[in-house]
Amino acid sequence: MICNNLTVSEAGHLVFAGVDTVEMAKKYGTPLMLLDEGKIREKCSIYRNAMQKYFTPDSMPLYASKALSFKYIYKIAKSENIGIDCVSAGEIYTAQQAGFPLERAYFHGNSKTDSEIRFAIENGVGHFVCDSVEEVEAVNEIAGALGRKQKILLRITPGIDPHTHKKISTGSVDSKFGVAIETNQAYELVKETLSLENVELTGFHCHIGSQIFEYDPFCDAARIMLRFIADVKKMYGFEASQLNLGGGMAVRYTEDDPEIDYDANIKGIADIVKALCGEFGVKMPQILMEPGRSIVADAGITLYTAGYLKEITGLKNYISIDGGMTDNPRFTLYQSPYTVLLANRANEPCDYKCTVAGRCCESGDIIQEDVMMPKPRRHDTVAVLTTGAYNYAMASHYNKVPKPEVVMIKDGEDFTVIRRETYESMISNEV
Ligand SMILES: *Cc1c(COP(=O)(O)O)cnc(C)c1O
Repeated sequence: MICNNLTVSEAGHLVFAGVDTVEMAKKYGTPLMLLDEGKIREKCSIYRNAMQKYFTPDSMPLYASKALSFKYIYKIAKSENIGIDCVSAGEIYTAQQAGFPLERAYFHGNSKTDSEIRFAIENGVGHFVCDSVEEVEAVNEIAGALGRKQKILLRITPGIDPHTHKKISTGSVDSKFGVAIETNQAYELVKETLSLENVELTGFHCHIGSQIFEYDPFCDAARIMLRFIADVKKMYGFEASQLNLGGGMAVRYTEDDPEIDYDANIKGIADIVKALCGEFGVKMPQILMEPGRSIVADAGITLYTAGYLKEITGLKNYISIDGGMTDNPRFTLYQSPYTVLLANRANEPCDYKCTVAGRCCESGDIIQEDVMMPKPRRHDTVAVLTTGAYNYAMASHYNKVPKPEVVMIKDGEDFTVIRRETYESMISNEV
């Protein structure tokens, strides 16, 4: 199957991280998200080890926690000795409540509010990744008022199109993120930042997009960023000690996607980075990367219960499920591919074509179109694979559907890490 944490039992049940998914659906109810702690830790350590080995001993992955943010995952990040990337005070707060050391947190976002900036500085967030001149000035002012000096990186747009879906491509000049080199505004931003008293510039950041299979786009980005670092050194005498290459390494969603060797990709990037440092005459900076999807995506699957089969004569078939865009809006947003199968009949021939439809009052609420599976029956367990990233994190209460339960599997043991929402908890803020 698409990931080595998936097998099929003799009874024909899908087994995930060593547990029978049909049993899990019975025990916890559906929709249910299962997470594989071993897989999350394996990915963290692949990144950590490869980055330390191929870049510098202090280089480090930062888990891009927007992919899936909840207390337990920050505990994993803490114990795996990696950093985190947060994009809101809400994520910072969640990490803090989990006991994550916030000096290893990097605070992102193109629209940080004054109260978020204050919250982050007061609580000791190690670095900000600043997105504009105005933001740097705001951070400088608030840090000054608090009697602090805040370390920051500047987000630069290197002008690279990694050939992915437009909505998830963020490195080109026309982007709401960062400041472009091409327009010279990046240099002006550096100059302004260096003139401010309460911020300390440590380096630069770029993020070129998501779901990138090859490593050359990262090498292209590194080339542009290192040349920028060299130019900045020449112009202002400032030498960056950190270079953050962002996230975006791909994940296998279907059999059509190639397998990805993360260690080899990181080595490939490191070889180029080292050569470029020599070429441009800059010292090798501490390298940071921000994997989100590739840490959690294939560590997650979602289980649903099949509802009704609708066969539209001469056109197509729909099977409805008890979840949908409220727990996984990615097909609706980006037509994202997913592998879908029947978890309780995983050894039967897939000879029936149907579209898996969510329960919301929205024609676009589809999980996947034209899936081949055994002809589904009411109460079958439908499994959607590789749902760990940007599913629960993007969940909503549309149609007042409660968010699902999230259960962690660790060494064959299952335990709840996010409780299922109740109708009461859903309306708890309503007056
Ligand atoms: C979304 C994002 C990431 C993570 O991207 P993945 O594709 O999930 O690895 C990292 N850094 C920044 C700045 C992002 O916006």
